[in-house]
Order: sequence, then structure tokens, then C-alpha cells
Amino acid sequence: MEQNLSLQGIVLSAMPVGEYDKRLSILTKERGKISAFARGARRPKSQLLAASNPFAFGTFEVYQGRDAYTLHRADIDTYFTEVTGDMDALWYGYYFLESAEYFGLENADEHLRMVLLYMALRALSKGRMQRRQIRLAFDFKTLVINGDYPNVFACGFCGSEEELSFYSAGHRACVCAKCKAKDRVTPVSPSALYTLQFIAAADVSKLFSFQLTEDVEREVSDIIRAYYRRYVKHEFNSEAFLESN
Ligand SMILES: [Zn+2]
Repeated sequence: MEQNLSLQGIVLSAMPVGEYDKRLSILTKERGKISAFARGARRPKSQLLAASNPFAFGTFEVYQGRDAYTLHRADIDTYFTEVTGDMDALWYGYYFLESAEYFGLENADEHLRMVLLYMALRALSKGRMQRRQIRLAFDFKTLVINGDYPNVFACGFCGSEEELSFYSAGHRACVCAKCKAKDRVTPVSPSALYTLQFIAAADVSKLFSFQLTEDVEREVSDIIRAYYRRYVKHEFNSEAFLESN
């Protein structure tokens, strides 16, 4: 099993180990989330000095030993300096990394999650899309990639695709006008429903391309936040630093 591998990925977190080393968590396209030891990465002249930091995206050459990976070379394509150089964008960036670290699995196909993370960081860098809306797209697509997300395409009671003008948090689904009395429901506007459908169905590479009015953003946000509170039940450290929404 011992071999050299070349993996494409993004550094999610870096922990100092001993005097000069670091332990990195990297989300890779080929192996899912891995933990890699970067020997000497904190020495000023180390070739791994810059590569061993969160947000570094590129190709990581690692040696796979019996129980751990060791990083010996990295070709970094981007450090996302537009994100790391702006305090507010940085917290969003950290939040995306933290989410990918929490949900990312080892030895699993995490290709989509890695592309989602990359595209979300790119959208933050470009600054064209509102950060809160980048986060909504990221958070909902994360649920879709996890395979555990609300049904936004058909009524959760009768399966109808018509008149989907309500949403039930308890039933994790939109609800049609005929079934609205079957559960505690809240109204959902066509634009908010369409936004959720778009995020669920769109290719990750085209996801970060929309603009929502404040009202629609609030509706979409309420549905996603309620789902996280109820079913994900995890507090992300960086969340407290994001713009309140
Ligand atoms: Zn129905």
C-alpha cells in the first residue's frame, strides 16, 4: 500500500506539530479528505511553508504510508489572496473550509464537494455575488451533495408538482395548496422555490451566478437555516463571525 500519489486539493486546516512540522487536513479530488504530515513546514526556508496553509489549492504530492500521508511537494495554483486579504471575506472562507472539513469524508469520492468549495472561494474572490448569497448556495448544495436535503421539487404529501406554494420544515418538503392543512406550513414564494430548485439541480460550476432580492434571500435563508438547526445540529466556530442574517 505504500506509494507516492499526486492529489489535487485544498488545504482545509493546518495544525502545528512539534517545533517545525504541521499536520494538514486536505480535501482532495481523488481520496476525499486526508490528513497529511508536512515535515519542516514551519521552517522559514521550507518549500512547504506557503503550501501548508488553509486555502492553498493545487497539486499535492504525498507519500502514502501504512497509516498516514506525508506531504513532500506541492504545486500551488492559488492561495485565494483576495479572500485571505479581506477580513470579512476571510470569515466566509473559513466557514466554507470548516463546513467541508465537517462533512468531507475520508476515502470517499469528494470530487463534487471539492469543486463546490473551490467555486465558492472563487466567487468570494471575485466579489460580484453577495457573500450571504454565496453562503446560501454553498450551504444548500452541501446538503444536496450529502444526499440529505429537503424535497423542493414535489409536494411532500401527495407528490404533486403543481401549486407548490408552501413549505413544511417538519416534513422537510414543499407542500402543495391542496395538502397545506396536513402539517404546519409556511408560505413559500415562486422565486424562493425556484432558487432552491436551481441550487439543487445546477452544475456546481454554474452555481454561483444568481442575485436575489432581500425578501427572497430571507425566505431561502429561513428554510436553509431551519434545516441546519434541526437536522445538521452542528455549531461551526466561524459562523459567529459572519454577517448576521
Ligand atoms: Zn400535495
